[in-house]
Amino acid sequence: MAKKSAAHVIIMGPQGAGKGTQAALVAPRLRLEHVSTGDLFRQVMAGDSELSTEIRGYVDRGALVPDALTIRMLMEYVDEVLGGESEMRGMLLDGFPRNQAQAEALDVALRERGDRLVSVVHVDVPRERLMERLTGRLVCSNCGATYHRRFNPPKVDGVCDVCGATLTQRSDDTPEAVERRLSIYYEQTAPVLDYYRAAGLLLDVDGDRPIAEISDGIVEALQSKFDAD
Ligand code: ADP
Ligand code: AMP
Repeated sequence: MAKKSAAHVIIMGPQGAGKGTQAALVAPRLRLEHVSTGDLFRQVMAGDSELSTEIRGYVDRGALVPDALTIRMLMEYVDEVLGGESEMRGMLLDGFPRNQAQAEALDVALRERGDRLVSVVHVDVPRERLMERLTGRLVCSNCGATYHRRFNPPKVDGVCDVCGATLTQRSDDTPEAVERRLSIYYEQTAPVLDYYRAAGLLLDVDGDRPIAEISDGIVEALQSKFDAD
């Protein structure tokens, strides 16, 4: 039987813009599978292997993991999730692509699969808001759900609302690593927005608003793109 062609969406924006928060809310409403390359790396880092030591060396200092390794891990994951009888429309890619080479590698991989890119959601938040969001971020050590000490606190202090596990701070949410990650974002990742804008795929979203208001807007805009497809 011929393989179903998938329809993918990318969510972009600086670190702390709320990509993970929004992706977790909108993906199930649109039948998309949320995949975060950062989460994939954190899963590997939780293990004890040569690969986990290598990846930790990049992530903890806020550097990018090399493109070839990133692309291979992502596409293996996509094949695994969308293989067989998946009910998903496609992936919601979060944290990828991070530079022009990754964007072009993604184009090639999608073409080879016969898949298409439906939209690139750009969650925009002024740079001066990001440090505060990132240094107050708490993540669930078990399911990866994201909170903020002040802006989006869990119901019980230090405990995940979703699964009850302990909340922790990410090892790369230190002021030094955040500065490095934001510099890389503005130098290497932000220019990729122009690539997608030129292709007519960019959907600009104001991310400096209440969380639910942003997710409702993204779902509405993407739903009309899928309906028009
Ligand atoms: P990203 O995935 O883009 O790095 P996150 O989704 O992890 O960003 O969000 C970064 C931090 O900001 C988290 O602590 C999150 O709870 C908080 N946050 C997300 N969206 C908003 C918002 N609209 N207003 C205030 N804080 C937010
Ligand atoms: P994130 O969870 O998106 O903030 O990513 C956390 C870290 O994982 C980044 O600072 C990088 O070290 C690494 N990473 C995530 N996605 C990529 C990517 N597409 N390319 C290279 N490194 C990545």
